[in-house]
Amino acid sequence: MAGPTYVVLLGKQGAGKGTQSELLCARHGLVHLSTGDILRAAVKAGSDLGREVSRILEAGELVSDDLVNRLVEERLGAPDAAAGAVFDGYPRTRGQAEALDRILAPVAVGLCVLVELPDALVVERLSGRRVCEGCGTIYSVADPSAQTGVCARCGGRVVQRADDTPEAIGARLSAYERDTRPLVDFYDARGLLERVDGDRPVEAVQASIEAALAARGLA
Ligand code: AMP
Repeated sequence: MAGPTYVVLLGKQGAGKGTQSELLCARHGLVHLSTGDILRAAVKAGSDLGREVSRILEAGELVSDDLVNRLVEERLGAPDAAAGAVFDGYPRTRGQAEALDRILAPVAVGLCVLVELPDALVVERLSGRRVCEGCGTIYSVADPSAQTGVCARCGGRVVQRADDTPEAIGARLSAYERDTRPLVDFYDARGLLERVDGDRPVEAVQASIEAALAARGLA
């Protein structure tokens, strides 16, 4: 890829953004910038930031635009982000999308992928999702690592996320409809949006995203 490349993955929780981000980053040398991962790490570390946001995360509500914008700007300033980034779970509001434009200028977002999944499947996937506390690898409840509670990749503890409960899932879906759905139009109006069907095997979703990158000369 020539110059830094910035890809936004939009979609409901559980649509597969995290998995697809990892694949994209491994293939193109980009940084996986998940604001959810950064915030969860802060909660786990018990930092000031973690204490400030833990209740909001558990309830499935959104933390303030100012706070996440600062985290993103800071992360993008690190040397390993020079080739670009895949944004996963950010931007989530119009204010964040506008802030991202300012942060990236003079470069711009090159592609926004909307990973689509119906609500019923979101609930099913999130209820069965398990995650490694150590390396962040995502497992489904039937995977051996989820069954044993020990991550096959790093030996870390495999747990259910505190916000993958029915109440928090409902709150997150509402926040998505209210705050994040408008971003589909925001990126579509600029000709940057690519819709992919998330209800397919990981490899098929990945192939669609790679094709969209190639079509824009980004791969
Ligand atoms: P995620 O891992 O993307 O599902 O994010 C988990 C939680 O972190 C969300 O439910 C929010 O509470 C918070 N969060 C993550 N990213 C953002 C963001 N861009 N803006 C506001 N809150 C966020």
